[in-house]
Amino acid sequence: MTYDSNNIFARILRGEIPCDRVYEDDHVLAFNDIAPQAPVHILVIPKGDYLSIDDFGAKASAAEIKGFFAAIDHIAAARGLKANGFRCIANTGTHGGQEVPHFHMHILGGGPVGRMVPGA
Ligand code: AMP
Repeated sequence: MTYDSNNIFARILRGEIPCDRVYEDDHVLAFNDIAPQAPVHILVIPKGDYLSIDDFGAKASAAEIKGFFAAIDHIAAARGLKANGFRCIANTGTHGGQEVPHFHMHILGGGPVGRMVPGA
């Protein structure tokens, strides 16, 4: 699968579509999910064109990878999620239920977020 530069997160990165931004630096943009599944539901996306977490792991530079995870740490601290914990999810591909083909990490928290796989 090749990267589709018209996916909605690519369009948000280009400023063509607004987002509810919570954090931005050289490597990432983070914004509130439009359909939150927890009291805190933030999406963290790399600025580079990566389809999925495995594509990111295979192709991103060390600086991009470090920057991505440092941003998650920064956001978790800023939103007060570190004391009681939170969950990160990277839906990947068809079986993983990935809807937007630009790598993104969901940060879910602000309260108990339930079982890892609903119904399991
Ligand atoms: P996934 O199934 O992991 O690809 O999740 C995509 C997520 O993007 C869903 O949780 C959507 O609610 C969210 N989403 C889609 N469009 C937007 C948007 N314009 N702004 C913020 N979140 C969005």
